[in-house]
Amino acid sequence: MQRLSSVPRPEDGEAFSSWFRTLQQEWGTSVGQTWTALGVDSRELVPADIHAAQLSDSAIERIAAGTALEPSEVRAMLLSRYRPTALPNLPAILDERLVDTWTTRRWAAGAWVLRGSSNWCPPCLAERPNWPLAWKLPWTFVCLRHRVHLVGRCGQCGTEQNGRAATPGPARCRNWIGRGRNWRPDGVVARCTAPLAHAPTVEVTDEAVLETQREINQWLETATADGASLAVLIALALMAIRPAILDRVQPEVRDALVGVRRNREATELLSRRPPLWAEPMRMAAAAHLARYVRGTPPQSAVEWLRGEPREPLFTVDLRIQRVTSHRVRIEEMAYGPWNHATAHLHAAFTAELLIPPFDSQPDWTHGLIPYYRLSDPEIAEAWILGLASA
Ligand SMILES: [Zn+2]
Ligand SMILES: [Zn+2]
Repeated sequence: MQRLSSVPRPEDGEAFSSWFRTLQQEWGTSVGQTWTALGVDSRELVPADIHAAQLSDSAIERIAAGTALEPSEVRAMLLSRYRPTALPNLPAILDERLVDTWTTRRWAAGAWVLRGSSNWCPPCLAERPNWPLAWKLPWTFVCLRHRVHLVGRCGQCGTEQNGRAATPGPARCRNWIGRGRNWRPDGVVARCTAPLAHAPTVEVTDEAVLETQREINQWLETATADGASLAVLIALALMAIRPAILDRVQPEVRDALVGVRRNREATELLSRRPPLWAEPMRMAAAAHLARYVRGTPPQSAVEWLRGEPREPLFTVDLRIQRVTSHRVRIEEMAYGPWNHATAHLHAAFTAELLIPPFDSQPDWTHGLIPYYRLSDPEIAEAWILGLASA
């Protein structure tokens, strides 16, 4: 295959979608033309590719051959690199088109990942327009370089960002205002154009949060058991966040969560509420809590997070938490953080911080949740009782 003449190299850690956008700018090509130039027929892209989750081996080889990158460099830009950690059971492309829409939809419902959007660090974007892949994971909640919380929404219009490299010049919000959820009574429709690099940030003053982010980054690269254990604990803490527990969190996070709540109220109008993990502030608060209870035995940690057994979880403001958020969805057990069977997870089921999906286990989960046979009540019970002491 012929080498393409001008190919900008991806930045370290850059997402494929961001690099792809840079190619488009460089070459002045449409999406379809860019794929063709890369040697990929856009008809062979499975649904998961839309969000740069993964590409087939053969497509990766062709892209590498045309762009003089190593196949490993192409792979490093795809979410599939997180299959051992943040994205368990990401459906693999075995040959060109083997991942069907149905499976992709299941995966999308359970995986904790921003697919069509991305969080970002404004000071990072001020330095360069490229979007790192890790910003698409809720597990990246603070920027260690700039010591700020990541941002999930445009400071001006409140919308999510697509996480592609910006058009030339400083990164700007390109979303429409006056349309959709930003409907305006005067009927004016325009692009927002707020500079993303200037989105208001909240400084991280909590060393525990920075340290936790460091450890999580390590986990994402090396898939350690300790890292998985910490990730599950953070996910559990996220479920346990409620007004009473926020008193134990650093004030900066508490204040920021009020802002998050206001945002949620705005989006609720269109009944499109983002998942809890999509908010970096909330993840940071969870990281703080996780760090706080980490040294105690799993059962005590979980009981502390849950609070008194009779303590109602949602006394103050129902909208700050989804009432059902502690009921685990089967898709999250197959593709989300609950796929990591850690001692904390077992303890959470025992203490009913999490309620397992006790419906009969659908066939498609077989092999995906090997530690938890929902269809067999005896095994399920033994698992819940027995592993709590593990
Ligand atoms: Zn940064
Ligand atoms: Zn905007």
